[in-house]
Order: sequence, then C-alpha cells, then structure tokens
Amino acid sequence: MSEILNQAEELRQKMVALLLSERQAIDEKLALVGYDGGAQPGKKVKACSACGSTEHNARTCDQRKAPETSTPSEREPRSLF
Ligand SMILES: [Zn+2]
Repeated sequence: MSEILNQAEELRQKMVALLLSERQAIDEKLALVGYDGGAQPGKKVKACSACGSTEHNARTCDQRKAPETSTPSEREPRSLF
C-alpha cells in the first residue's frame, strides 16, 4: 500500500522538521551562553593539574576536595540581608 508508505514518510518528515527546530532552539541557547559550536581542534585543552584529566580543571576536580568541607550547607554563601 503506497498510501501507508506516504503517511509514514510524511510523519518522518514532520519528525525531522520538529527535531531540526529543536536543534536550532538549542543552538541559539548554546550561543546565548557563549558556546560557539563544539570541539575546536586547534584549541589547547588545559588538563587538570590534580589528576591530569581534560574533562575538568583543578578547581572542579574530584580528586582535590578539601577535607574540611564536610557538609554542603556550610559552603553556602551568607544571606545578603
Ligand atoms: Zn582532576
């Protein structure tokens, strides 16, 4: 039945259009936060000085958590009032 195939193709194209519009919306949001389109081959990635991973830097390294930060609530900033 070519009718069913036509409907399936129509549905697929609608799905593609929907996904493309979603992708564009995401791209715009990424641009808003300063993300310019992904991996840049020429850009030097600074490795974490604590463990050597390039996924994060030393500030956010899990290997370098200070022992005195026992509870998260103690690290919250004081009230502005
Ligand atoms: Zn690290």
